[in-house]
Amino acid sequence: MIALNDRSYRVPARPTVVICADGCDPAYLEAGLEAGVLPTVARWRETGFYALADAVMPTFTNPNNLSIVTGAPPALHGISGNFALDRDSGAEIMMTDPEMVRGETILALMSQAGVPTAAITAKDKLRRMLGRGLDFAHGGICFSSEQAERCTLAEHGIDGVEALVGRTAPDMYSADLSLFVLDAGIRLVEQERAQLLYLSLSDYVQHGHAPGEPEALAFHRALDDRLARFAELGCVVAVTADHGMNDKALPDGNPHVLFLEDILNRPVRAPSRRARLVRPGLSQDRRAAGDAGALRARAARYRCGVDPRRSFRALRAAL
Ligand SMILES: [Zn+2]
Repeated sequence: MIALNDRSYRVPARPTVVICADGCDPAYLEAGLEAGVLPTVARWRETGFYALADAVMPTFTNPNNLSIVTGAPPALHGISGNFALDRDSGAEIMMTDPEMVRGETILALMSQAGVPTAAITAKDKLRRMLGRGLDFAHGGICFSSEQAERCTLAEHGIDGVEALVGRTAPDMYSADLSLFVLDAGIRLVEQERAQLLYLSLSDYVQHGHAPGEPEALAFHRALDDRLARFAELGCVVAVTADHGMNDKALPDGNPHVLFLEDILNRPVRAPSRRARLVRPGLSQDRRAAGDAGALRARAARYRCGVDPRRSFRALRAAL
């Protein structure tokens, strides 16, 4: 057993795979089940455990990934967003530095207890935080599919990842970025190189496609195929998400934009105490939009991982 944040965890007796399916709103599973493309999930829903869970606040990728691997809320693990304000310099910084993580992760403690542990993430920005404390000298593995071709034994505990998976590292903005993570995990289990795996995917597909769209169904079918393979290999498998997804456009197609600084500053009279919004974690907007016209054109199809109703309720409570 290992203990962390008032919880105890058994050392896995057989390969145990925890998958964070980024942005996998329950609506994607419901649409996939209805379309019959998720036979493994359907089976597990009947014979395993299936439930809706709340994300931690704020509903961003980094706080939720860290909550999954620590079993604790951001107040304890310290990763309160994808971005933060550095009070000393006033700079807006990405929360990717492993030094920002307070305390240990379950992955690190398992690795240090001698369990061969692998953390694989789609985007490299999560890698160093998830790999914090892994024993790379004794079987610890941590890499991203984004930078799969750059792995070294010293830094990642593995090399030759493209050969392992059997294809080159995928494009950063592709469905395959996630599937590569899952396929790498499958190879590690097949080769008995990992007993505990944390596989964190990307929400590229969910950002672009609503549940029930062919692209979303194809992606979730491919995810289900991999789940079936893990089951076939005798793994214990848990699949969860870091947050859900919402349409970013109003029903009339106009972008649904809330200017949070204006809202937050409304009850604040003193100019010295005005709120400053630190990168709202919507960098893909900027990439996809470029200008307001493009944003308008794409908004009807473009989806957002942050639930504005939940987030706004929490902001109001905090004020
Ligand atoms: Zn996410």
